[in-house]
Amino acid sequence: MPRIPHITLNDGHTIPQLGYGVFKVPPAETERAVSEALEIGYRHIDTAAIYGNEEGVGAAIAAAGIPRDELFITTKLWNDRHDGDEPHAAIAESLEKLRLDRVDLYLVHWPTPARDNHLHAWEKLIEIRRQGLATSIGVSNFLVPHLERIVDATGVVPVVDQIELHPAHQQRAVTDWARARDIRIEAWGPLGQGKYDLFGAPPVAGAAEAHGKTPAQVVIRWHLQNGHILFPKSVRRARLEENIDVFDFALTDAEMAAIDALDRADGSGRVSAHPDEVN
Ligand code: NAD
Repeated sequence: MPRIPHITLNDGHTIPQLGYGVFKVPPAETERAVSEALEIGYRHIDTAAIYGNEEGVGAAIAAAGIPRDELFITTKLWNDRHDGDEPHAAIAESLEKLRLDRVDLYLVHWPTPARDNHLHAWEKLIEIRRQGLATSIGVSNFLVPHLERIVDATGVVPVVDQIELHPAHQQRAVTDWARARDIRIEAWGPLGQGKYDLFGAPPVAGAAEAHGKTPAQVVIRWHLQNGHILFPKSVRRARLEENIDVFDFALTDAEMAAIDALDRADGSGRVSAHPDEVN
């Protein structure tokens, strides 16, 4: 079974750097897919209330019989539940579906700036952590102004910001701000969600050829060597195996730099929604 590196978060807890994300894994397929991922050696699962598949994740965890402290489970607070005491109701529902008494990481899924309530949601996550229902807390899709607001108001720094990040869209403003405050970056859509020809880009295809690995493995390796936490999604067992088989080679500095140079700094490499537009 592959040895997956752990990263220490700014609250002292650790997270497996590579996991399995279940966005768009159909609820009926989730238990099977997560069970296979756990068999293959994944120990970090990234889900969200809005994915509608927390029950399947919970069923797979229960069936696997893996000691709880070897697993790292993340879920997320959905956008329509930021206000009042809704975050408390939401985490209770997620924990019931996951059959857990705590998650390892709970995230505010989007900043929903038009609703102007991400600071309130963050204050609720601080309470949820204090109650022991989430070991660590963080955010997702937060840009610098959103991060500044919650950190300035509460003094509590998220352990991660989970953002869209892949070679064409590297979000350097966010990653620089986060790095300076010891906030780790979780890269979602790490393979660009298959929405552009990342695997055919010469620096990726060339490194794959040079190392005898697949383009997907090269991109995963690029994330790992950049210190990102990631959890590529697939429902196919062969791809789950491929995506974790990345610890027997390393990209050279020149190969890393060539992939870094695929960034479109004007933001045009984004493949999904802009955080200001999700409310
Ligand atoms: P991804 O970049 O992981 O792309 C997934 C797609 O890549 C799959 O559908 C599959 O077609 C393809 N793929 C996977 N492995 C492959 C391989 N070895 N070879 C070729 N193709 C392969 O995109 P994603 O699923 O959006 O992101 C990963 C995870 O990030 C999600 O499952 C979810 O947990 C998280 N996420 C979070 C947010 C957020 O708003 N916080 C948004 C999207 C995704």
